[in-house]
Amino acid sequence: MTTDLETLNRHLADAGRVRLFLDYDGTLADFAPTPDHVTPDPAIISLLTSLVKHPHFKVAIISGRRLEHVQKLVPVPGILLAGTYGIELQTPDGKHVDRAEYDIVRPILDDLKPRWQELIAGHEGFYLEDKDWAMAIHASFAVDDEADQVLASARHMAVEAPASAALRVLGGHKFLEIGPRLAHKGRTVEYLLDRYPWPGALPLYVGDDDKDEEAFEVIKTQGGIAILVSSEPRDTVAEYRLDAPRDTRRWLKTLSHSI
Ligand SMILES: [Mg+2]
Repeated sequence: MTTDLETLNRHLADAGRVRLFLDYDGTLADFAPTPDHVTPDPAIISLLTSLVKHPHFKVAIISGRRLEHVQKLVPVPGILLAGTYGIELQTPDGKHVDRAEYDIVRPILDDLKPRWQELIAGHEGFYLEDKDWAMAIHASFAVDDEADQVLASARHMAVEAPASAALRVLGGHKFLEIGPRLAHKGRTVEYLLDRYPWPGALPLYVGDDDKDEEAFEVIKTQGGIAILVSSEPRDTVAEYRLDAPRDTRRWLKTLSHSI
């Protein structure tokens, strides 16, 4: 893994056409105070607008946030937006596509929600996020031991839920989420490359967490390039690293002028 992007920039300039898949939080933008916090950043909107208009780029945002939030954060015509890890899409021509059956998914979440609420009630530092298609417990501000215990119980409830085979339980650092099986950034990149082909374009994915790692793997098997956004080197399949969202923005700006 390297932070030297010179070679990459030359490689991309040679490729000519670049298909950009970008995560949002922690990749393009600094983390919001809470996951329900939606504050569009004019600088990001302007950067993405210029990339979308550039004939050598196609741009997709793939976020774990619900689509409705991604649409508010990135009101950019001609961009592809994927919410809930790609379950809900807004295509470049503005159409809405759902890749799972809401009538199967939602009743499972409705059944689980009060049980998760009861579980976290009275515990400090927990936050339940209902994303409509998925539901998450954030425990970033909880004490370590308590976070482990509560999230283990929440996971148990989720995997034991009736019809839970249609869903996938995702863990992370002080985080647990249940959502449709296809809510998977790797499967989403595969789907988008297949469904909206752009022959000869080089796919490139920029992301910062373990859900992005699933997309890195897919992008690499498709001959593309993965870039991790992280202040420290860490275990990853990405070949390149950017330190922070501001470096992603700066690099994308340079890229749009060099191709
Ligand atoms: Mg992220």
